[in-house]
Amino acid sequence: MIIDLEPFLNVEGLVKELDYTVDLSGEEFLGGKPFNAPVSVKGILSNHSGIVTVDADADFTMSVCCDRCAKPIDFPYDIAINHTLVASLNDEENDDLLLVEDIKNFNLDELVTDDIFLNLPSKFLCSEDCKGLCPKCGKDLNDGPCSCRKEIDPRLAALTQLLDN
Ligand SMILES: [Zn+2]
Ligand SMILES: [Zn+2]
Repeated sequence: MIIDLEPFLNVEGLVKELDYTVDLSGEEFLGGKPFNAPVSVKGILSNHSGIVTVDADADFTMSVCCDRCAKPIDFPYDIAINHTLVASLNDEENDDLLLVEDIKNFNLDELVTDDIFLNLPSKFLCSEDCKGLCPKCGKDLNDGPCSCRKEIDPRLAALTQLLDN
């Protein structure tokens, strides 16, 4: 979505409701294209007492694989997009301010996309207690134990024997 920011920078109290979707289906992440469904962006763009801000939430589902068992999963995720937009910066650097160079053609999609990629998780699990795959035979241990014999530390073996008795 391209927005002309000029009115927002000049008119106090101006509010625009944001409720639209961004298509990231062509974007790659971790070697795949996980954004099958459009990203929903909801929030407001407003000038409050002369300060122009974007306050929105981006909601989406990523089609990825569990890091432990490799099962395909739909991973729901959402991030907050909060920025103060300015047309010029004063001398002091301020990381909280986002300088918009082309105020007539502010590209909100780019901002949303950048924020999403900066905040994506690096690990995906099908469940917190996913048991993963056996490193030897590759069996999905969520479906039950495999028949591989575990090499057990002799001290642990003694303990196991004690527990078995
Ligand atoms: Zn898993
Ligand atoms: Zn095994």
